[in-house]
Amino acid sequence: MASRVFLSPPHMSDQEEIWLREAFASNWIAPLGPFVDRFEQTLGTCLGGLHVCALNSGTSALHLGLLVLGIEPGDRVYCSDFTFSATVNAIRYCDAEPVFIDSETESWQMDPDLLAARLEADARDNRLPRAVLVVDLYGISADYARILPICEQYGVPILEDSAEALGSTYQGRACGTFGHLAAFSFNGNKIITTSGGGALVSSDASLIARARYLSTQAREPRPYYHHTTIGYNYRLSNLLAAVGCGQLSVLPSRVAARRAVNAYYRQALGDIPGLSFMPEPPGAVSNCWLTVIQLDPSQAKLSPEALRLTLEEKNIESRPAWNPMHRQPVFESFECVGGAVCTQIFERGLCLPSGSALDEVTLARVCDAIREALT
Ligand SMILES: *Cc1c(COP(=O)(O)O)cnc(C)c1O
Repeated sequence: MASRVFLSPPHMSDQEEIWLREAFASNWIAPLGPFVDRFEQTLGTCLGGLHVCALNSGTSALHLGLLVLGIEPGDRVYCSDFTFSATVNAIRYCDAEPVFIDSETESWQMDPDLLAARLEADARDNRLPRAVLVVDLYGISADYARILPICEQYGVPILEDSAEALGSTYQGRACGTFGHLAAFSFNGNKIITTSGGGALVSSDASLIARARYLSTQAREPRPYYHHTTIGYNYRLSNLLAAVGCGQLSVLPSRVAARRAVNAYYRQALGDIPGLSFMPEPPGAVSNCWLTVIQLDPSQAKLSPEALRLTLEEKNIESRPAWNPMHRQPVFESFECVGGAVCTQIFERGLCLPSGSALDEVTLARVCDAIREALT
């Protein structure tokens, strides 16, 4: 059997192991240390000068982001319906209530018109949400040219879930720099990885200082242990930060490689009836974390699930698009504004192998398998 093609495997350069050994040799085997500092500085610089708190996951970053925005039990937080459950779990960790907002077809991200109409009605009824959690899914930026002024008008802060969008831009500006705060993930399948890790970023130093305090068990600055707040143990390990420093040094080439994978698929598969690609709307430059196709049931020979199983037989991993949050039994009691757009994306969608280390021989193997199945 041909070797397995994974969806989005880790891709190390030579530098990670060198710095990991350096961290090991220095005995900074702790959730703090020089590589954590370096990782925070490098990531902040790469985002145009933001403050950064390195954390043990993207989910922790989302949780702390909501806490430092002051989200309390019973508060309402508006959130993209089309996302991964971690986004919404963070809202629920705060005992706050999500309201899901459907996607627009142009970008597959939160629909600014639905958000605007909803906030306008909320303002009339005097029940504005405490925050909006906007996701940049699959590396495509949400439409911040429209979302920012809407949220500003009503004074509602934005937490950006850029877990999948490190290295993406919108109108020349990096994803993760639009919200009051943004969360990144360095989980094993993301565009760069620390095996497990995340970061909370902001231009507001006081919010990041507060997050750092909460992430280290909310220890008061006294010589003995003194606590006035419930804290968390969310910091990134210095060993993993060493891996992260290596990965950050190759981020631009990882983005270029994933964009090349996406371009290859478009070129090789674009003529297949009923097959289309996730749009890259004007102004958005995607890191192409995953290449996602849509199969129109009125024209395509197979359903996405049948294609997935066919590829699986050839040892090629593919994965359904995210199943919207309003369809999850665990979140079924929460309101959803719209929902048909992302339901259709889910029903028609399939994520193709998109790793930055894919070579042309492997890409050709994947494309041949897809063409054979669909024509
Ligand atoms: C991966 C991901 C997260 C969670 O990140 P972890 O580091 O796995 O906790 C959150 N939101 C989105 C959209 C993600 O893709």
